[in-house]
Amino acid sequence: MMDGPTERIILTPGPVTTSAVTKRATLRDFTPNEPDLLAFTAEFRRTLVELVNGQGAYVCVPLQGTGNAANEATLGTLVPRDRKLLIVNNGFYGERLKQIAAAIGVPFTAVDLPITEPVGVEQLEAALAAEPSLSHLVVCHVDTGTGLLNPIEPIAALCRRRGVGLIIDAIASFGGLPLDAAALAPEAIVLSPNKWLEGLPGIGLVLVRRTALAASAGRCHSFCLDLHRQWRSFEDHGVWRFTPPGQAIAALVAALHQYVAEGRVARLERVRRNWRCLVDGLRAQGFATVLRDEVASPVIATFHQPADPAYDRQRFFEAMWRQGFVMFRGSLTPFASFRIGCMGAFDQAVMAEVVRAVGRSMAEMGVTDGRPDPRRSRPNSAALRPNHVCRLPALPPPG
Ligand SMILES: *Cc1c(COP(=O)(O)O)cnc(C)c1O
Repeated sequence: MMDGPTERIILTPGPVTTSAVTKRATLRDFTPNEPDLLAFTAEFRRTLVELVNGQGAYVCVPLQGTGNAANEATLGTLVPRDRKLLIVNNGFYGERLKQIAAAIGVPFTAVDLPITEPVGVEQLEAALAAEPSLSHLVVCHVDTGTGLLNPIEPIAALCRRRGVGLIIDAIASFGGLPLDAAALAPEAIVLSPNKWLEGLPGIGLVLVRRTALAASAGRCHSFCLDLHRQWRSFEDHGVWRFTPPGQAIAALVAALHQYVAEGRVARLERVRRNWRCLVDGLRAQGFATVLRDEVASPVIATFHQPADPAYDRQRFFEAMWRQGFVMFRGSLTPFASFRIGCMGAFDQAVMAEVVRAVGRSMAEMGVTDGRPDPRRSRPNSAALRPNHVCRLPALPPPG
């Protein structure tokens, strides 16, 4: 049976484990336009713009929904339908951006690359030169399918040089990795409260250049996901357009207070220590990471599945669950892998416990070491295209 502790450490790369202070901030009801909620909204909108040094030129448009909804809203609101979007695809979330653009009728061209290599600026330069109708470029700063880090400064420099609107899916980087809107000059930065910021899910957040937003009236494919309409509601009426997710907003404000007190660099260092502890600890057990360290962000580490025939994916997840850890249950790579997220309100001492729990789980199954099939750990990178998620059946309810 699947018993174990009721409070578990979340090792999925979002949602993440939140602090007790953040959880407590949600223990009340909110009505849509009450002063507390509007003050919270004004505060987080201002703070998020300040965190990217975007005062004056950028506005924060919050949206009821998840990170994907915010990506969809951004593409649908900002890309003119008589122009085209260039999608950088070197991971699961790049593939997802293609699915979104296709579903909402945004014309696009994709640069499809192996999931183990950051995109090179020359490749994008060539793609932009080949198609003058490309008005926007969207890239995942960190592709959370593997943890791959794309170099945002040279991509931003290219977009500025060519007058292309840069949209950054910063959902897995905002709050940890540096993002300076004044220097990068992107058109939009998409983020989520429930990754580096350690808030709750339920709000999609977009920082948009004010002039681009003002020029986007009437463009969005969707009534509910229209960033322009959503923004106008705050501007013209000072309120949310539809029922706001009050508890998620209260949690975000509480999480931002803790974030500002800790500081971005300290948070990055804490998560980096989590990542280092995890990667070193699992390598000592024989496991191999999918990415080489130079291109990996500390958001998450993705490991090849062990070659040992005693390994059983389902039993591994269940053993971790019983020991108090929740792992992501799918594999987002074209070969079998598992991944462990490093963000959330916990530190290296907890990650050291995770490493021991992985060792105990392997011992339970009779797996003697974590080494992958050698053909898999040195894959032909051309074959490494992003894959669709493969999900395991749901876990039975705890207890
Ligand atoms: C988590 C994530 C998303 C999707 O967020 P949801 O809240 O699950 O919709 C999109 N892009 C990236 C890079 C992410 O890490």
